[in-house]
Amino acid sequence: MPDAEPKKEILIRGISAAPGIAHGPAFVFFQEGPHVPCYDITEEQFEEHERRFDEALLATRQEITRLRDTVAGKLGKKEAAIFDSHLLVLEDPALIKATREHMRATRRNIEHCFHEISGKYLAFFATIEDQFFKGRDADIRDVARRVLHKLLGQSLRTLAEISDKRVIVANDLTPSDTAHMSAGHALAMVTDGGNCTSHAVIMSRSLGIPAVVGALVATDKISFGDEVLVDGFGGLVYVNPSPDTLFHYGQEKLLREKFEAKVRAQVGLSEETADGKPFKLSANVNGVEDVPAAHENHARGVGLFRTESVFMKHPDHVPDEEAQYRYYADVIRECAPERVIVRTLDIGGDKPYGALLTTAGGPPEQNPFMGFRAIRFCLERKPTFRAHLRAILRASAHGSVKIMFPMISSLDELLKAKKFLAEVEAELRAEGAAVADNYQIGSMVEIPSAAVSAALLAEHCDFLSIGTNDLVQYMLAVDRGNGRIAHLYEPCNPAVLSVIRGVIEAGAARGKPVSICGELAGETAFAPLFIGLGAASLSMAPANIPQVRFLLRHCDSGELAALVAAVFAEHEPKKIQHILRAFAAKKLQ
Ligand code: PEP
Ligand code: MG
Repeated sequence: MPDAEPKKEILIRGISAAPGIAHGPAFVFFQEGPHVPCYDITEEQFEEHERRFDEALLATRQEITRLRDTVAGKLGKKEAAIFDSHLLVLEDPALIKATREHMRATRRNIEHCFHEISGKYLAFFATIEDQFFKGRDADIRDVARRVLHKLLGQSLRTLAEISDKRVIVANDLTPSDTAHMSAGHALAMVTDGGNCTSHAVIMSRSLGIPAVVGALVATDKISFGDEVLVDGFGGLVYVNPSPDTLFHYGQEKLLREKFEAKVRAQVGLSEETADGKPFKLSANVNGVEDVPAAHENHARGVGLFRTESVFMKHPDHVPDEEAQYRYYADVIRECAPERVIVRTLDIGGDKPYGALLTTAGGPPEQNPFMGFRAIRFCLERKPTFRAHLRAILRASAHGSVKIMFPMISSLDELLKAKKFLAEVEAELRAEGAAVADNYQIGSMVEIPSAAVSAALLAEHCDFLSIGTNDLVQYMLAVDRGNGRIAHLYEPCNPAVLSVIRGVIEAGAARGKPVSICGELAGETAFAPLFIGLGAASLSMAPANIPQVRFLLRHCDSGELAALVAAVFAEHEPKKIQHILRAFAAKKLQ
């Protein structure tokens, strides 16, 4: 028999989002439910469709039971209880009976009938205000998705269920999807949409895996199991890579590894420029799982602990004070004596969190990035904010902590947040709880109004931290998660750079350190500029630290000042980009 034709190589171009080269089979993941076919069936086929339905229900029951046992083993019985309510949905006689009756009445295939009936249930629960039934709506949605996948003979793709090493290919990934991603299983990440500051990218950087976003047709062209090679440096994705491509990237990988070894050899060296000026690099973390990488890369503590990640790990219920306290204390303890900047809850925007936000009332937001997000949510949802701050303050006793508020848009908001924090602290102290003394309070600067009033904010807090991911999107009115307009997300726009310079200068004038914790801080093109401008520290994905340290150690203050001057003398973003990249490339040779 002749050998099967080798599959044709397809090249997909996207945007380089996280560096690295990886090769392996694809795991194609869609956020939305599967496509459910609708067709007529004959009376003779009723039995077969009912049998398939019974089998799908049974298989789903087994799958959920397994999941419940795994979660109970890993996180405890309480955390696993959610799956008991999922099992109850599967045993709901009304849902099952209505599906069968619908099939007989309409003579349509069973998956279509189940889809329609479960959809009606969901629509019904969505109209009920009662909190108990709201939760049930999420249970039904999850279970219905599982049953449908079984009926359609597809495996349900949640990132938690990947058992071997795969390249994740998705139309898009929410923070709760990526909360299940692990470096042990994810070789690389490719998404149709997204841009370089989307949370999926932040997660891939923190795991140290290559990522390509805005690959538009990736989920059309790639099927489950296809061999895929991802070039995270060039933003390229090869489906069924040819032997030539594999050879080329094999060589490329060797060269990169050699360079990385050179960088790593300097990992423990002091953080000072070639002429002895100190700089400070710290880590962005999502939880205690990221702390070992921060240590390995010699991070100077944590410059941004995104506490919302803890919530994202529990999409169906809000972690209570005790559970949050344990998570935060773990991170703080593991990092001590280095300080951890704990950022208060930043949900909303590109970090939807059903368990809190769907119960927030009101219609779905047209423009979530400008909506009920972060500090706005917290200042309105005081019981949630109180439990959150109590957990952080109690955890602060285990090490060195600074507390930072996200999405501050005015002094008034900062003062309100500080006042509430002081109340919660007083309440805890009155209860005799241990709380760190003299922890510092900071404000993020990621909204243009905050950047313009940086001097005022600096007077009322201990430090500022610039969130470039949001600052760029709000200054340029370019949605940071929208792949369609990713080319307009231009941090080299001189207006953006002058605002960053203004914030650093405003902090310096008041003796308040200004750090940078957006993704740009970890980019070799931008880090020298920020240090040249006087940023007190840069916080980034742990994997980026060695390269940025290597680069800054090879720059002297004169060169950094010249770089700043060259950048601010230029008005065209492309030319500024060229200046920054050329500087970094020369130093990284
Ligand atoms: C930022 O906006 O730059 C930032 C660090 O916050 P996040 O990416 O979590 O919105
Ligand atoms: Mg932000």
